[in-house]
Amino acid sequence: MTIQDEYRKKGWKDLPPGGIVDRPATARDYKTGTWRAFRPIRNKDKKICQNPEACLVCWILCPDAAIIRVEPNELEFDMDYCKGCGVCALECPLKAIEMEQE
Ligand code: SF4
Ligand code: SF4
Repeated sequence: MTIQDEYRKKGWKDLPPGGIVDRPATARDYKTGTWRAFRPIRNKDKKICQNPEACLVCWILCPDAAIIRVEPNELEFDMDYCKGCGVCALECPLKAIEMEQE
């Protein structure tokens, strides 16, 4: 069962309050990419990321908004801001992201 299936089973009242995820704002001038010891690599064979209904868990949870949606339905990492924390790799339900030593 995918994460989309889990959410489809719920009504809107069952969903937790959400927030707005946007490009880095106040942190725009503080590029955290230089902290990085590991970099995320996405396995592009995992087709869900190219699907219009891609789960985008990685995009939502990245603490540095370093994952960018590019058209059409493609994801890229902004290495100026990716600090290599590995949250995206840990939380991806398909294990489509691996951390690789720099
Ligand atoms: S969390 Fe994983 S499956 Fe979901 S969009 Fe990101 S890389 Fe793709
Ligand atoms: S490793 Fe951390 S900072 Fe980099 S893209 Fe993943 S969640 Fe964002």
